[in-house]
Amino acid sequence: MTETPLQILLYLAASVLFVLGLKDLAHPRTAPRGNLLGAVGMLLAVVVTLGFADIVEWRWIATGLVVGTVAGAVSARWVAMTAMPEMVAALNGLGGAASLLVAGAFLRSDDALSTLVATGASGVIGAVTFTGSAVAFVKLREAKWIDRVVAPAHPIATILVALGTLAACVWLARGGGDAAYWTASAGALLLGVMLTTPIGGADMPVVISLLNSYSGLAAAATGFVLGNTLLVVAGSLVGASGIILTRIMCVAMNRSLANVLFGRIAPAGASASADSVYAGKVKSSSPEEVAMLLDGARRVLIVPGYGLAVAQAQHVVRDLAAALEARGATVEFGIHPVAGRMPGHMNVLLAEADVDYSKLKEMDEVNAAMGEVDVALVVGANDVVNPEARTNPQSPIAGMPVIDVDKARTVVVVKRSLSPGFAGIPNPLFAADNCLMLFGDGKKALVELAAALKAA
Ligand code: NDP
Repeated sequence: MTETPLQILLYLAASVLFVLGLKDLAHPRTAPRGNLLGAVGMLLAVVVTLGFADIVEWRWIATGLVVGTVAGAVSARWVAMTAMPEMVAALNGLGGAASLLVAGAFLRSDDALSTLVATGASGVIGAVTFTGSAVAFVKLREAKWIDRVVAPAHPIATILVALGTLAACVWLARGGGDAAYWTASAGALLLGVMLTTPIGGADMPVVISLLNSYSGLAAAATGFVLGNTLLVVAGSLVGASGIILTRIMCVAMNRSLANVLFGRIAPAGASASADSVYAGKVKSSSPEEVAMLLDGARRVLIVPGYGLAVAQAQHVVRDLAAALEARGATVEFGIHPVAGRMPGHMNVLLAEADVDYSKLKEMDEVNAAMGEVDVALVVGANDVVNPEARTNPQSPIAGMPVIDVDKARTVVVVKRSLSPGFAGIPNPLFAADNCLMLFGDGKKALVELAAALKAA
């Protein structure tokens, strides 16, 4: 489809909005504006694209916009912050499916080779993204049945399916038409499941951001198929930012991407059993006892994790930090890059409670000063403070950098039980000599702690 000069100009405006939006999203303070700029850019993109396509009537554009806006507004309102990664996985998957279907619908076997290559790429990447995201979605819901229903594929089977898919792509490029396209897509759908199923739960953040990048690449390829410049630009932005985020996450977990995707699956029993780790060694504490400890502390480090989000304790933890500061203590928050269930999860939560951004410290910074911390207060974090990552090379999280709270003078862990975190392994920290457990829901426990501190 040929684009008119006006259309190209409006596309340029939308692209600029996307780029400015992305830039603003890099900082919590400017992120809301970035979100808005991106949304305005997308609205412009949709209206211009459909408005210039004489096959679509305005009433359909308006209907689509209303349906999309209502669906988006309802999701924004009802999807819990803790379920955001599943939401991202679902959106990635839908993006992939859209690329698969749109490129398929535009397939003409007499097209130029470059268009056929773009069509094949769109279908294959879109299909891998669709089923890969579906598996990631189920894994993020922590539904263990996926591991029983879909046994991890043998690497040789995966290689055979990949070769079959590649062969179908070559067939497509040589004029195989619909049959070749849908054969390649079917292979890629299978490949998405086979590649994602064996990846461990703790590596899901990396997989989600990689699939996000794939959905962008699929969209960019579809842009070539349709001859739509803006789709190429928007898809490339998503593809590039997704791959940058993937790299940041890999560095945060001290893993190479190849190791995440094809690396070892932790052998069963690589971590010791919970009984042998905890038996007779865990010390349960009370809000009063912890309040006395905090009352005498000069330096306190609060380490939030996924449980803080579940308990919605971000406002309470801010108040507790303020109460400690009023007593003369220095209070900082130690933020692990993969704490919670999505990149930046803890930053978003604490920003929601107006915690001053300067109090949020990165892992390396807090680890360097851990020896001076009197009390490390861990609220709903588990894997990101598990010292086994440092000490047990057989552990599923071996090599993942963690916040070394075990090196603080005293550690207090607030959680409901000794249940494991996302990686499903026991945490020797809870049995350490310098660790006290304050069992209870994060919000309730911190409210009681604040009351006890007031009374202390
Ligand atoms: P974890 O998942 O390791 O642990 C969370 C802990 O919170 C649990 O042990 C749970 O214990 C506790 N908890 C749950 N609900 C509450 C509550 N209401 N009150 C108090 N505690 C509660 O979380 P971390 O943040 O330490 O680590 C994140 C993990 O998630 C890592 O393994 C990471 O790889 C993975 N991940 C990260 C993503 C990201 O992008 N950040 C995305 C997907 C996965 P109990 O039930 O006993 O209360």
